[in-house]
Amino acid sequence: MPMLEVKNIETYYGAVQALRGISFDVNEGEIVTLIGSNGAGKSTTLKSISGLAKVKTGSIFYKDKEISNRPPHETTLLGIAHVPEGRRIFGNLTVKENLLMGAFSVKGKQVIEERMEFVFGHFPRLKERLSQKGGTMSGGEQQMLAIGRALMMNPDVLMLDEPSMGLAPIIVEQIFEIILQLNKMGITILLVEQNAYQALSIAHRGYVIQNGSIVLSGKGTELIENDEIKEAYLA
Ligand code: ATP
Repeated sequence: MPMLEVKNIETYYGAVQALRGISFDVNEGEIVTLIGSNGAGKSTTLKSISGLAKVKTGSIFYKDKEISNRPPHETTLLGIAHVPEGRRIFGNLTVKENLLMGAFSVKGKQVIEERMEFVFGHFPRLKERLSQKGGTMSGGEQQMLAIGRALMMNPDVLMLDEPSMGLAPIIVEQIFEIILQLNKMGITILLVEQNAYQALSIAHRGYVIQNGSIVLSGKGTELIENDEIKEAYLA
């Protein structure tokens, strides 16, 4: 039984149909990546799962429970963390305040401190910059903060929307290395990326989205070798 199961969902923005029947699943402990070009529907797929976008038809199951169209705070409480595209940290709040915002429903000072230590274990830079305003951090640091904030809720599934966007190659390497570490610690990862080569290299499985539909799927290593994918996304 998959941990997350998306069944034939269709999602609209007003009259614009963004998803045209997307189905896929994510098993516990996997890294699954969704690749596709601009506007294919990758972000909308994540938004549909976390409840930021409304699904018109189809259904989404998480740990056997239907969660379609639950509001974002509920999906977060269930254990699904969504780190949106563009990071969206609070620029005027400090690093510490940003992390605390991520722990909005966590009760108990000690638990919060343990979660922070967990985050610092993966992102030591955040510990060094606790009182710095989020908005003055570099792009890579802001991405780390956005992921760190999501980890404050101790999620089972971490959904990352284009974590490599706009970052220098060496920082991208670091971010992908951390994603691998988090996965090894038992967090299931659903990763959306335009950086298809790197995303597929760390993924157990991948799906290719085109025009709101899934057109191809397979093991990460198989997709990297696929000629159509090489031509369209790895050129
Ligand atoms: P990108 O990598 O460029 O973010 P994507 O694969 O994540 O692309 P989505 O952002 O999911 O694509 O967009 C899917 C479709 O939905 C596109 O045609 C897009 O223009 C449209 N869309 C996305 N957000 C909105 C919105 N808020 N209002 C109207 N249309 C939208």
